[in-house]
Amino acid sequence: MEDERKVVLIGVGNVGMSYAYALLNQGTVDTLVLLDLNREKAMGEAMDLNHGLPFATGAMHIRTGDYDECRNADIVMLCCGVAQRPGEDRPSLLHRNTEVFRSVISSVKQSGFTGILCVATNPVDVMTRVAQVISGFPPQRVIGTGTLLDTARLRFLLGEYFGVDPRNVHAYVMGEHGESEFIPWSAATIGVKPVRVLCENTEGGFSRAGLLRIQKEVRDSAAKIIAAKGATAYGIGMAMARLTKAILGNERCILTVSAQTKESGYPSVYAGVPTVLCRSGVRESVYPKLLRGEQLRMEASCMVLETYFGETGL
Ligand code: NAD
Repeated sequence: MEDERKVVLIGVGNVGMSYAYALLNQGTVDTLVLLDLNREKAMGEAMDLNHGLPFATGAMHIRTGDYDECRNADIVMLCCGVAQRPGEDRPSLLHRNTEVFRSVISSVKQSGFTGILCVATNPVDVMTRVAQVISGFPPQRVIGTGTLLDTARLRFLLGEYFGVDPRNVHAYVMGEHGESEFIPWSAATIGVKPVRVLCENTEGGFSRAGLLRIQKEVRDSAAKIIAAKGATAYGIGMAMARLTKAILGNERCILTVSAQTKESGYPSVYAGVPTVLCRSGVRESVYPKLLRGEQLRMEASCMVLETYFGETGL
């Protein structure tokens, strides 16, 4: 089909299927192919989604298949991975997930895939760099979900706090998707008003303490959801659908994905940074002018990611 918008999803677990369900509801793609080591599960998931089609916004082809489906795909989305074993340390988990990526990406490459490789598997910044190194694709074609979800959580919470639509909240979570992530408050605005200025004006009842509460809530959200229901899925699924739409639509919108940027001081490290996305992947990063303390936090976060990458054995 000419102009077909095609995604191959690899890994049909909680995250993969939340993404697939979001794509189905939003009518973002024409063709979605589900691949998994567990072929039977992939088949069942494709059947289940297909039965929702009569109620969907438009036509969509959903099927399982083989890696040769990647040949003419626009996007390959990686959500495959192994779960942490009880007592397993991070280097061991990283090693096992690197092996999963080695086998999957070699098959994707063999197909002759020329599109954008997206990664959601955790630790996402490290696994995105692993994907780039293993694939040998130009860095512009390899993108991680990064702090896209964390940024969505931040914008939602700031919107609630200031009583405005989160779409008018311009604020970003940068660095690692994890413990060392940080919020550059100097670059956060509500419409055109800097958040820090709004907090200096005591009349509004907004305060620095309020912002710090929000920062903590953003960082603790994933752990809270995991404690309550075992895993996170819908938020990240929606974030991945947003990323897909931005790429397929050549939107040139700014999303905080995991990408490489020289300004972090660690040009090989993939980390969450506001990035302009287009049909060919990353167009450029939009690195904010950070205060010295904020830049040090970005560098510290990248140093953590550099150490984790070293643990993959690549
Ligand atoms: P899951 O265990 O439910 O699903 C993983 C799937 O990968 C399984 O279906 C498994 O069969 C498949 N798989 C494993 N090895 C494979 C291989 N070699 N080839 C093909 N498929 C293979 O896990 P989940 O809850 O869906 O999470 C998936 C990943 O997403 C995890 O790494 C998780 O930590 C991550 N995640 C990321 C974010 C984020 O913000 N980036 C948020 C939540 C979860």
